[in-house]
Order: sequence, then structure tokens, then C-alpha cells
Amino acid sequence: THYVYRFGGGVSDGGAGDKNLLGGKGANLAEMASIGLPVPPGFTISTEMCTRYYQEGESFPESLRQEVANGIAHIEGITGKTFGNPADPLLVSVRSGARVSMPGMMDTVLNLGLNDETVQGLAATSGDERFAWDSYRRFIQMYADVVLGLDHGSFEEALEIAKEDQGHFLDTDMTADDWRKLTAEYKRLVQEQWGKPFPQDVHDQLWGAIGAVFGSWQSERAKVYRRLNDIPGDWGTAVNVQAMVFGNMGETSATGVAFTRNPSTGERAYYGEFLINAQGEDVVAGIRTPQYLTRVAREAAGARPASMEEAMPQTFAELARVFELLETHYRDMQDIEFTVERGKLWMLQTRNGKRTAKAALKMAVDMADEGLISREQAVARVDPSALDQLLHPTLDPEAERDVLTKGLPASPGAASGAVVFDADTAEKRAELGEAVILVRVETSPEDIHGMHAAKGILTARGGMTSHAAVVARGMGRPCVSGAGTLAIDAKAKLFRIGDRTIREGETITIDGATGEVMAGKVPTVEPELAGDFGTLMEWADKVRRLRVRTNAETPADCRTARGFGAEGIGLCRTEHMFFDAARITAVRQMILATDEKGRRAALAKLLPEQRSDFAEIFEIMAGLPVTIRLLDPPLHEFLPHEEAEFEEVAQAAGLGVEALKRRAAELHEFNPMLGHRGCRLGVTYPEIYEMQARAIFEAAVEVAEKTGEAPIPEVMVPLVATRRELELMKDLIDRTAEAVFAEKGRQLDYLVGTMIELPRAALKAGEIAEVSAFFSFGTNDLTQTTLGVSRDDAGRFLTSYVDKGIFPRDPFVSLDVDGVGELIRIAADRGRATKPDLKLGICGEHGGDPASIAFCESVRLDYVSASPYRVPIARLAAAQAAL
Ligand code: ADP
Ligand code: MG
Ligand code: MG
Repeated sequence: THYVYRFGGGVSDGGAGDKNLLGGKGANLAEMASIGLPVPPGFTISTEMCTRYYQEGESFPESLRQEVANGIAHIEGITGKTFGNPADPLLVSVRSGARVSMPGMMDTVLNLGLNDETVQGLAATSGDERFAWDSYRRFIQMYADVVLGLDHGSFEEALEIAKEDQGHFLDTDMTADDWRKLTAEYKRLVQEQWGKPFPQDVHDQLWGAIGAVFGSWQSERAKVYRRLNDIPGDWGTAVNVQAMVFGNMGETSATGVAFTRNPSTGERAYYGEFLINAQGEDVVAGIRTPQYLTRVAREAAGARPASMEEAMPQTFAELARVFELLETHYRDMQDIEFTVERGKLWMLQTRNGKRTAKAALKMAVDMADEGLISREQAVARVDPSALDQLLHPTLDPEAERDVLTKGLPASPGAASGAVVFDADTAEKRAELGEAVILVRVETSPEDIHGMHAAKGILTARGGMTSHAAVVARGMGRPCVSGAGTLAIDAKAKLFRIGDRTIREGETITIDGATGEVMAGKVPTVEPELAGDFGTLMEWADKVRRLRVRTNAETPADCRTARGFGAEGIGLCRTEHMFFDAARITAVRQMILATDEKGRRAALAKLLPEQRSDFAEIFEIMAGLPVTIRLLDPPLHEFLPHEEAEFEEVAQAAGLGVEALKRRAAELHEFNPMLGHRGCRLGVTYPEIYEMQARAIFEAAVEVAEKTGEAPIPEVMVPLVATRRELELMKDLIDRTAEAVFAEKGRQLDYLVGTMIELPRAALKAGEIAEVSAFFSFGTNDLTQTTLGVSRDDAGRFLTSYVDKGIFPRDPFVSLDVDGVGELIRIAADRGRATKPDLKLGICGEHGGDPASIAFCESVRLDYVSASPYRVPIARLAAAQAAL
């Protein structure tokens, strides 16, 4: 095997298909080179080397030395420069690049190959001494930080002092001599902190940098990023070594980043920023305020400095040609990094750009309309989970706003929360359930956990492509960046805007769509569901086979879910209706009754209430199936827990407090989850289920008569383990139905079925199906009972289980396909063997999780049921599963 793959000068050993091997950056550099775009030549050391590097105790095999030497020779052959040659030195960048982009997570070193001698050669060949020393000081600073791990603060401080000494405000004001002096100071700092002089041997420099890139794969911030984004730790990173091109060679040189379409709104307009006479990360680091790419964007922002279109029209035209070419080639929006060296354009990176949910939707629909992709591809392209961002409320345009300032609209959505000034505090307060807004001068990779915990992010510095903006968009967090009038005093935990002061803990609101920052909490309105969203959903509905229902029991939830396209109710939990303050007294009376007669008296009070609940739901869900689960939780859940409440209840029930407490003690269970609940209640107190069945059928008849449209009740018996249990309950329900239909003189269709939530039920599904019209997999309980893990107590250890790879993901969020999934598969097969038209659905939390939905498609369930806001996600995920 070999580890080095070349690109540039007419050769490309790899291409866009080799992302696993070459990383995204390396694969796309090779691809761009092979379609004739101007890419500085270089080579990629594959991710396989990274794996081997860690297997072999962080060392390289001898064979790699020769391969790297060949790679360098490849670059030398094309550029005509020689690595380490004092007269005409080749300089390279050493760049990390994993399979998927990890913004700002990995380290890159630029201008490598400079030393006290080659810097003279660079000055001579470029005819620009200032440029040569600027490059050298940049190199030492980056190398000291990334490779030697020295304190980068002290280098920045030295730069600030140098600028102050010379009376300069900007880096661009520094002269050749200023940079030379700073370089000397940098070398002194290296000697002081590292105990050795700055490495002068260019090969030592190169191997140091390669090792550092591989080493950065296991850095803390890279690990955190991987954990948050479900990226496996064994993928490894590739290393790219590439000839330098220089954006810092004066006024005809520049560096920039661009998107072929607007990543925030999805609009078809070039979008980006660039800086004249600058290098590498200057644009995203917020050192100078970058300039706009296009004239239109500059004018829209009312900014003065010329756009690239105006300042470098020819190079801009060339760049625009490349944008078009890349979009047609990749058939997707591209995120591009480029450099202009003395008027010549060089491409340094391209990848499918990250985008907001709104932009993803718009681009998918637009590109299908443009004929760039098919409608199926458009459906496949939008991440269902990202829709979440769109389905939530935005700021009420009518509401009053106390606007403090305006920054850049870096990531859309609105958020209100308490101001915090550091990532750790953000995390701590969020854990306690508080909504927080993280306010920073600018963010860095160390802030990731805080950004994740925050509802929104506000920065004082940085542009639309700054770290804060990119990461926030990726996470779906609203973000306002570059709010320049914000004066943050992180030590005093406050910020000032003009004469206003906002302290830690005070509430602000940010609007990532307009850039506005407001004092206090601003009310929100429901989202717009027509337009691109509606179009894509329509396309998705054409593709999907699975039906999508909702889990809902309140009229408001039922309406929301219907609005989102729910095709029925998969789970209506009746106990929620029992908790209602107006009814709880009757419920308690029923529980405290000592005989059937007493229970029936209390149930008679509940009957009309239940009936009107069901009637309301049947009307909203007109013509659609509604699955109603009979009472499930253990009865003691309805009894009071507080001393004061006991007195009140005792009085209402006409009992002594002592008697009430005795009854509560009788009902106490050591393990209520496995106790007297589910159909066990129906078996011991049939009158409870009888009342519920009566309420369902009376309501159904009432609605059928009122609206002319008969509802389709599906009566569901919970926690069944054996055929006999269900048979008893079904008899009871059927008898009740007959009685109601006889009384009302009207017959209606209905189904009786069960939840499959115990392993025994899954195994004996063949028998149970004899008396069941449908199965609904209650995967919350089925996960608990299969794994023997209580969901309410799992928090303490589940994170460790996921970190150690015991579970790939939290099994309560994403179905344990291997274990619980196998039980579902068995139950589906055995059930269908008995009854080919057995209806199968899922009503656990998993019904709204895209990975779990893909599994449901694979076992060909009939429907999934998700909470109202997840209905669109489920529709899209179901379509993707069918493709
Ligand atoms: P990241 O993955 O963090 O974006 P990159 O490897 O892309 O890191 O490097 C960051 C920036 O450094 C690039 O956007 C580019 O501006 C600059 N850069 C990298 N390699 C070169 C090169 N060979 N010549 C000029 N600039 C480069
Ligand atoms: Mg970087
Ligand atoms: Mg990059």
C-alpha cells in the first residue's frame, strides 16, 4: 500500500469519490485539479496513515519518508522551486482534512519552508521584502502555536506591542523592517518558551507539521466536535501538503471565502468575503473587516470599501466562471476558499456548503426546478432533523422591540434568553433548564459546548463567515455576529451599548434573520408552512409509502399536527385527561373506592367528560383513524404527594386523612413501571375500561351523527403480555360497543388492538394477533423492558455507554435496531403470519427519529406516529427511507 496521492500539474491520483481515503479537502483538491481548475500542486497523505500513526504509538513508518520526498519532488517539478533552496525556495502549506469538514477543529500551517536564509530568497524572487518578512512572522507564529504548542497569546501580544510602538493601527501599515523586528522577537519567544531555537531545517519543519496535523485529530476540541456531530473517532484525518500561493503580495493579491449561493437564505446569489493583501484565515479571524464579493451585496449593506467585483473585475469574472462550473459539476452549492496572487486566481478548497434549514429547502426546490437535480434528489438532500428549525416560531413582526443594536444576520431564527459571557456558564445554566444567549467578542473552537447549550449566539466581532456564524448555522442556532457597537466586559460580566448596560442573567432577544439585538423577551409567531416547505413536502409525499400519524391528546396538538400533515392519531393517551384539575377529584374518588359500586359511581362522573374529549378529537381528525389507548399508568400516580393536598382530598372524598394515607400506602409499589398498570388495571377493575370504551363509542356515534363523517376509532389495550389478557379486554370492549350501538341505533366500524411493549408479547405475537386487529409498537416501554433500563434513571450512565461505544446512540432517542428492532421484526412476521392484513405502526418517541423511521420502512410497518412538531420530519424521513 502507498499513502501519498498527488494532485496538480495534470496529475490527479485521486478524485471526489475518495473522501474516505483522502479526506474531503484532499479529494476535492484532486477533483478540481482534474477538471482543469487552477489548483496549486501538492499531495495528500491518506487517512489510512493517520490510523496507522495511532496504531504504532504516534510514529511514522520509514517508507513514508520516501513517499513524502517523492511528493515534494512532484511539487518542485511543477513550480520550478526547491524546498529549502535559499535562492528560490518552495513554500508549502500543511493542511488537515477529515472525511467531513470539521470547521476550525483541525490545524493548518502556512508558509512552511521559511528560515533565516530562505526568507532572503523569497524577498529576492518576489521583489517584495515586506511580503517575505510578513510571511516569515506568520509562519513562526502558526508553527509555534500549532506544532510547538506554545502560548499564542504572547505572540499576539508581541504583535500588538510592535504595532503600538510604530504607531500603526492595522497589520497592513507594518513595513518590512517592522516585520523583520517582530520576527526576531518571535524567535526569542520560541527560544524562551520552548527552550530550543526555532527549527531552521525545512524537513524538520515539515515532519513536525505533519505530526501536528495527525496529532490534532485527538485534540480535546476535535473530540468534542465529533461527539456532538456523531463522527466516529476511527475515521482519522488526511494531511495535505500544497505549494503556497500568496494573497499577501500587495494590492493585486487577496484571499477570500465564498458560497455559490446564499447559505443563509438559499438565494441564488454569490455570497462571500475577501481581503486584499491578506493571507489564509485573516478573513475568518476577524482581524480586519472583510470586503464584500459582489457590488450588489456591498450596496445592500451600505458598505464603502470596494467589492471584489469592483476592485478586481477580471479576477472576479474568472471566479464567477469557476462558481458556475463547480455548481454544475457537483450539482450542489459549493463553499469555496480561494487566493489571488498578483491578479491570478487560485482555488484552495471546495466542498458542499453547510446551510441553514431554510436555505437547504430553497436550494433543493430551486435546483430541481433548474433541472440541476431531480425531485427525488431534492427530497433526499434535505436533512429531516433540520426542518425542526423551520417549524418553530419566529419573532412577531407586530411586537414591540426595544432594539439595542444591529449586527450581521449570521444564522436565522429568533432566540430569547439570559445573557452569559462564557461557554462554561452557558452550559451550567442551560443544564438547569434556563434559556441562555452566549455573548462573546468572537467565538473559537473552545466555545463549542457553550454554543451548543445556548439558544442563540451574539458576537461583537467577525463577519458572516466567522467561526461563530459557520458553527451556529451548522447547529441550527440563531446567531448575530459582528455587532460592533457592543462593548463587552467579560470580567465584570456585562456589556454596554451606548449608555445602556446589560448584565449577566438579564434577558435579551436576538433575531438571526435581521441581525437585531433587543432588550427583554420579544413574543413569537407560528412559522409559514407554504412555499418551498409545502413544495418539498408534496414531493416527499409522492415518494413515501409509510403513513404518518401523530401522538396527541389535546385539541390544540391535534390541530397543529393536522396542519403539519398528520394522517391520523397513532397514540392518544387518556390518562392526561384524568389529570385535569376539574376531574382529578372524581378520579381520586374512583381510586379510593373500596368496592365496585363506589368505583362505578365515580366513573359515572368521568364518563361525560371523556366523551366530550373524544368527540372533540374525532371532529378535528374527521375521517382519519384515531388510536386511543386505554388507561395505562399505575393508579397511585393520581394520588396526592404533599401533606397539604392530603387534607383537601380527604375532605372531598369524605374520608379521614389517616384512612386516605392508608389507602395510598396500600397502592404503593416498589417498581410501578412493572406493577399494577396497563391492561392489568382493566383485568382487575373492568369497569374502568368499560367506561372508557363507552365514552369512545358514544362520542363516535355523536360525531358521526353531527358531521355525517364517521370517525374510525382504534381502541388500544396497553401492556399486554398474553393472548388471554387481550381476549378478556376485547370481549369487554366489543360488548360495550354492542350495547352503545343498540342504545343509539347506529352501527360504526372500529378496531381493537394492542400495544406491543413487552418482549413476551413480541415473541407470542402469532397468538396475540388472533384477537388483535392491529399492533402498535410502544417502543419507549419496549426499549425499557428489552434492555432492562429505566428511561427515567438512564441519564446517569447512558452518556458513558454512548461514549464507550456500547450503544451507538441513546436507545431512547434512536431505536436499538439490533435488539429491540429484532423483537419488532419477529412480532411483525409472526403477527402477519396469523393475520396477513394486521395493521402495524409505531407510537414511541422513535416514530419521529429519521434513523428509526428508516428501520420501520425496512420492516414495512404501515405507519409511524410522531409528536406534532415532528410530523413533517417524519414525512420527509419516510420519503427518504422509501427512495
Ligand atoms: P481549514 O480546514 O481550517 O479551512 P485550510 O487547510 O483550508 O484550513 O487552510 C485555511 C486557509 O489557509 C485556507 O482557506 C487558505 O486561505 C489558506 N491556505 C491553505 N493552503 C494554502 C496554500 N497552499 N496557499 C495559500 N493559502 C493557503
Ligand atoms: Mg482552520
Ligand atoms: Mg479551509
